[in-house]
Amino acid sequence: MKSKLREVIEFIDKNFCPQKEEWKTIMEKSEEIKRYIFSLLKNRYNVSKEDLVILGSVPRMTYLKNDFDVDIFIRFEEDVELKSVVDFLIDAIDPRYKTRLRYAEHPYIELFAKGITFNIVPSYKTKYPNWLSPMDRSYYHHNYLVGNGIQELYREVVRLKVFLKASGVYGAEIFVGGFSGYLTELLVLKYHSFEEAILNISDWKPPTIVDLEGYYPTRQAVLEAFGRDIPLIVVDPVDRGRNVAAAVKKRSFSKVISAAKHFINKPSIKFFEESPYLSNQEYFLRFDYIVNPELPILLVYFEHDEKIEDIHYSQLERLSRKIKNVVENEGFEVFKVGVYSDYRSRSLLIFLFSELERPRYDKIRGPFPFMEAEKNFLDKNFDRIKWIGDDGRWYILREARFLSAEDIVRHIIENKLVKIPDDLYNEYKIFTLNRRFEEVMDDTLLKTWLVSFILGDEFWTLL
Ligand code: ATP
Ligand code: MG
Repeated sequence: MKSKLREVIEFIDKNFCPQKEEWKTIMEKSEEIKRYIFSLLKNRYNVSKEDLVILGSVPRMTYLKNDFDVDIFIRFEEDVELKSVVDFLIDAIDPRYKTRLRYAEHPYIELFAKGITFNIVPSYKTKYPNWLSPMDRSYYHHNYLVGNGIQELYREVVRLKVFLKASGVYGAEIFVGGFSGYLTELLVLKYHSFEEAILNISDWKPPTIVDLEGYYPTRQAVLEAFGRDIPLIVVDPVDRGRNVAAAVKKRSFSKVISAAKHFINKPSIKFFEESPYLSNQEYFLRFDYIVNPELPILLVYFEHDEKIEDIHYSQLERLSRKIKNVVENEGFEVFKVGVYSDYRSRSLLIFLFSELERPRYDKIRGPFPFMEAEKNFLDKNFDRIKWIGDDGRWYILREARFLSAEDIVRHIIENKLVKIPDDLYNEYKIFTLNRRFEEVMDDTLLKTWLVSFILGDEFWTLL
C-alpha cells in the first residue's frame, strides 16, 4: 500500500515536476521580458525597475512542467488608469512578439515570446485593506508563500495540483469552479505534504474552514463573517476578509472528496492516466464502446467570433438554464445540462433528456364541480375531451404544442422565446448524437468535454 503510493508519487514527479535547469532558463527569459517591458514603460509612466515583479507559480517553481504561464505584474501608483497602460503596451510591444488583449476581472496582455506565454498584468501598489484592483493582492500572496517556505515544498504543491487537475477541479475560472494555484499552495502550507493533504481532504465535510493565521477566534466567527452555505472557507492570510476558496463550487468540493477517498483507498497511476483532464486515451476508448448514438441528448452548436471567456460562459450558462425551463414547461424532462466553448469560434450547449420525444397529450387537472370556477373551466375547454376523475375533479386532455425536443429548442431560438444576447452567435445548428455531429467533433478539447459529460467525469469510480 505504502509502496504503491510511493510509485504513484514518483510517476507524478517524473512527468510533471519542473527541473532546476529548465526552471533557470525560464526565469532568465522572464527577466529579459520583464526588462523589455520596463524599457517600454519607463519614459511614459512613473515606474521603477522594482515595480515590475514576476509572480505566480513560476518563480516559486510550483508550476506543472509543460503547462505554465509567466505572470509579470506591474505595480503602479494609484493615479494610473490600468486600461490605458494595456492600450499603450499593446501598441508599443514589438510586432515580432504576438500579443493578445485579455480580461479576467481586469485587462491584461498575453505575450508570446521565446516559446513561453507571458501575462503582463497591470495592478496597483496598494496595501491591505485598500486594494484598488483584484490583482493588487498577488504581490502579497507571493511574499506570504515564499516567506512561509513554500519553495522547499514545491514538489508537494506540484503533486497536489496534478491530483486536483486530474480530478477536474483545478482552476478558479468560472467554468471549472475549482481550486486556484494560490489556494493549492495554501493547502500545502496547512497540511505540509501531498499525502497529508489528500488524507485530510478525504475527511472534509462542509463547511470546512482553514484559517492559517488564526484571524478568527472560533469557527462560529468565520461562519458569521463568510456565510454558512459555503462548502470551503480558506481565510486569505493577506486579507482576512477574503475567502480564497470563494470560487470552489459545491460540486467541485464533493468531487475532490470523492476523488481523494478513492485515491487513498487504491492509489494508482491509472488515476492520472485515465483522467479525462490529463490523458484520455482510455477514456475515449470507453466512449466508442459505451456511448450509444441513440442516447436522448440534444446539442446546440454555435459558431461565433472571438469571446471574452467569463462573460461568454455566463451567457451560455444562463441561456442553457432558460432553455431548460421552457422545455420543461412544455412537458419534457431534462436531467443534466452542460456548456462548452473554445472562446474562439465554437460553443455548445448540451442537454440530457429522459426522451427526445414526448407523449402527445397532457392530462390537465381542473376544479371540483361544486366550485364556482367550474363554469369558466368548462367554457374555456368546451372543445376538449374531458372527464370527472376518481378524485372528483374535472380533467381535460390537452394536446402538446411540441412533440420533439429538437423542434421546441429550435422554436425557442428562432422566435427568441428567451433573451439571447445579439452577438452570442453567427450561426447555430442543432444536433443529436449521431453521425452528423461527428462532422464538428474533430476538436480534442470538445471531445474530452463531451465524453466527460456523458460518462460523468468522476472516472475514479470506474478504476
Ligand atoms: P498556475 O500554476 O496554475 O499558473 P498560479 O499560482 O501561477 O498557478 P495563476 O492563475 O497563473 O496562478 O495566477 C497568478 C497570480 O495572479 C495568482 O497568484 C493570483 O494572485 C493572481 N490572479 C490570477 N487570477 C486572478 C484573479 N481573477 N483575480 C485576482 N488575482 C488573480
Ligand atoms: Mg501562473
